[in-house]
Amino acid sequence: MGRTVKRMPDKHAFLSPSSSERWYNCTPSAWLSEQFPDLGSVFAAEGTEAHRLCEFLLHELLGIPDVDPRPGMQYYTEEMEEACQGYAQFIREKIEKWNAAGASPKVFVEQRVDLREYIPESMGTSDCVIVTDHDIEIIDFKYGMHRVPASSLQLRIYALGACELFAGLYEDINRVHMTIYQPRIGSVDESEMDMAELFRWAAQDLRQRAELAFAGQGDFSVGEWCRNCRARRTCRELAAHQLEIAKYEFKEPPLLSDEEISDVLGRVDELVSWATGVREYALQAALDGRHFAGWKLVEGKSVRKFSDDACVAARVEAAGIDPYEKKMLGLTALEKKLGKKDFQNLLADLVVRPQGKPMLVPVSDKRAELSLASVEFAANREKEVMENE
Ligand code: SF4
Repeated sequence: MGRTVKRMPDKHAFLSPSSSERWYNCTPSAWLSEQFPDLGSVFAAEGTEAHRLCEFLLHELLGIPDVDPRPGMQYYTEEMEEACQGYAQFIREKIEKWNAAGASPKVFVEQRVDLREYIPESMGTSDCVIVTDHDIEIIDFKYGMHRVPASSLQLRIYALGACELFAGLYEDINRVHMTIYQPRIGSVDESEMDMAELFRWAAQDLRQRAELAFAGQGDFSVGEWCRNCRARRTCRELAAHQLEIAKYEFKEPPLLSDEEISDVLGRVDELVSWATGVREYALQAALDGRHFAGWKLVEGKSVRKFSDDACVAARVEAAGIDPYEKKMLGLTALEKKLGKKDFQNLLADLVVRPQGKPMLVPVSDKRAELSLASVEFAANREKEVMENE
């Protein structure tokens, strides 16, 4: 499964920092996922626009001429504006902090970094790099809702690229600070390490994993990173991992033990998500002309609907009946419309959070354990209310 095609690095490197968690942990995945098209997603497009707005706001902050991207943006919202403004403010505070410490920070926005010393053909772009006499800061903006820690490989690789670039120019740099700024989930995660340690890790560990991945060698390994693998729908290793759960069907004695149920509970979400993905993949393949033995394409269930709403409304109104219902916007829609601040001022005292339905989660979950007494109390309250209605 060797990979021999050599090419100049482009913006989307074969071993990109953004997919590093996957190819570092499952080295053959780099080659395997190349065989599937990158279908993109609305979330990715939204993230790209948010990054562009961040870049513009930082340029504005630093007095660098740039064209306002907002008019041409497809996914621009008040929420995006708030998130990107927050990021610019965060960078401003970082700069002020370094200035106050007399460290004369230099700020680099959307800095291209060359990673080829450690990762074949790879380049990357770091959202913001701040260089001082002794320190280097890498700050990465994430618009997604899936939490990314500052210890992520992607950020560490950006930090490595920035150190490669600046360590020669600023010889006294010895400490590396890494931050993930993720406003939509209210997370700012920071970590730091010695630059010497970073270079040691890159030389001893990263380079070896990257070379294996580049050659399409090494062992498959299932983990969190499979979520971002284009081969996940048909990867045999992942299928075997998911179907391990099927062993319980044939187990003796006839009833599952509590330990076995715990095991199934821990796997059921990823199993459902994987199986749904396989079904979506197979449907698309069938629509493209593939045939799966024992399966056929049919028309799904359909519900009645009006072909022309305006025409329906006109006819019903002419018959003397109001066809519309007045409905208040939901909480999230109102919060979006008013903006977080006005929403808070106007409605905070009217927002309540009813007790959520009990659910089973792993013990590692941060939420406090429910006492059975409180569950019983809530169930009785609900019953009382229903009886009195
Ligand atoms: S789905 Fe997971 S195990 Fe399979 S190739 Fe991709 S990352 Fe590796």
